[in-house]
Amino acid sequence: MQHAKAVDPGPDFRHVGVWIFDLDNTLYPADSGLFAQIEARMTLYVQTLLGLDADDARRVRQTYYREHGTTMNGLMRVHDVNPDDYLAFVHDIDLSALEHDTALAGALARLPGRRFVFTNGCRHHAGRVLERLGLAHLFEDLWDIRTIEFRPKPDPDSYRVVLARAAASATQGAMFDDSARNLAPAAALGLTTIWLRNNPAWTGIEFASATNQHIHYETTDLCAFLEGLRV
Ligand SMILES: [Mg+2]
Repeated sequence: MQHAKAVDPGPDFRHVGVWIFDLDNTLYPADSGLFAQIEARMTLYVQTLLGLDADDARRVRQTYYREHGTTMNGLMRVHDVNPDDYLAFVHDIDLSALEHDTALAGALARLPGRRFVFTNGCRHHAGRVLERLGLAHLFEDLWDIRTIEFRPKPDPDSYRVVLARAAASATQGAMFDDSARNLAPAAALGLTTIWLRNNPAWTGIEFASATNQHIHYETTDLCAFLEGLRV
């Protein structure tokens, strides 16, 4: 007589009622090339502002990313750049590579509780992207770089600001991000963390940490991961 094979119930997320998603390279795949367009616009902005060639502009951006959290924060602090001008410029991109993602919409809709987008980008860009993906109606709020008063992830204050805004406790939250370093403060606050391991190699300005204990789960396929959760 054959024993019935035990069905894997999947990761247990029954404690989660607040679902927090990064936008770029998290809610759409990195191979869409979308974020590469934004990165190219960031480099072009720095080139134009500082009169540099592309290689030198990329080096400046890496320095700002390391020392100020984002290219934009470096530009604001060092060169007094107007963030609205910068955000409008870098997000002026072609979204035609994105299509409605009905599978992901279904997987998100199944999650019990509240869903949010938490991005270091701007609300206007997030709204456009979510419309293209057919996901806009699934999120209660979009938290952008203005919401967090230009203190981008992984600044721990930004996480406290958004949790307070949602009147949510960290321990009921789960956070999904393709940037592993953004998950460290989330885990420290008590959120369950999921790393979308899909960064294209060229954005390799990710910083290795001594341990990966702040990453509770990792996946290369957000939709399949969500569908497999015990909720
Ligand atoms: Mg991202």
